[in-house]
Amino acid sequence: MHSFIRALPKVELHVHLVGSAGIDTVLELARRHPEAGVPADRDELERFYTFRDFDHFLKVYWAVQSMLKGRDDIHTLVVGLARELARQNVRYAEVTVTPYNHMTDGMPGDEVLAGLESGRAIAAGIGVELAWCFDIPGEKGLPAARETLAFALNRPEGLVSFGLGGPEAGVGRAQFAPFFDAARDAGLHCVPHAGETSGPETIWSALRDLKAERIGHGTSCVEDPALLEHLALKGIPLEVCPTSNVRTQQVASIGAHPVRQMLDGGVVVTLNTDDPPFFGATLEGEYLAVATALDLGHADVARLAENAVLASFLPNPRKTPLLEEIAAVLAAV
Ligand SMILES: [Zn+2]
Repeated sequence: MHSFIRALPKVELHVHLVGSAGIDTVLELARRHPEAGVPADRDELERFYTFRDFDHFLKVYWAVQSMLKGRDDIHTLVVGLARELARQNVRYAEVTVTPYNHMTDGMPGDEVLAGLESGRAIAAGIGVELAWCFDIPGEKGLPAARETLAFALNRPEGLVSFGLGGPEAGVGRAQFAPFFDAARDAGLHCVPHAGETSGPETIWSALRDLKAERIGHGTSCVEDPALLEHLALKGIPLEVCPTSNVRTQQVASIGAHPVRQMLDGGVVVTLNTDDPPFFGATLEGEYLAVATALDLGHADVARLAENAVLASFLPNPRKTPLLEEIAAVLAAV
């Protein structure tokens, strides 16, 4: 099964740029910015990077964030992610970037864009196409929404969608409706997080108020049969991140993950990694873990890979060769 998963051309739809920083990337950043105090020794960094609990995860995340000062640092992140995706035969990824956090850290917007663009060109050269989702850090409220929208309306190369992340409790989705409306009017797709750390009502709100085309996580949808049915009927894909949900203690184990009920309910499930090295996750690992926990056969696993292609914002003519390649890999089993 592992070699089958490796052979499938894959698409990743939910990965955060800062959260994608692996050991090699962070070593490079730590050596460039010793003042940040992040271990520049591999063994020490590996210990620092080992997942302990959610608070430690946040500490590591913000330590990485603190080393992002200019275009070279963004470039380093993007290239590190692209190399890792190429290693796993991931051909296309929609990567979530949170420009507001970089800008409030003092990085000019032009630097963010320059790093994204130069990194994206390197990625293309190694066979990985990257697209961007600019997301609002919800906990920072309406000023963050305003800045993120203004930045997105520059329509940089590769930007396909507009998102909303951060904690859900006390951060109602509806308040962001005008920003999502404006993003949609500018031709961007709408992909908020919802139902990761709160109940199904947040997912309903994301659909109703933000007109979400895909849902980031959506884990709690299974608590509401009418919602599950609605998602299936409307074909609204979920960006499911099983290991992330286990690590953040939203679910007890991959085996206990509601992905089974989602699939049984006819929902379009895609598998994704969220913040992979922080959670000790890889996209291949997510496929393998779900295949094992749910006792899936090759055709079911291929279907998950197809779902990600179909749920992506790639133009239709670009989806066809990927779907054909998945079919060919399945036929060769
Ligand atoms: Zn996320």
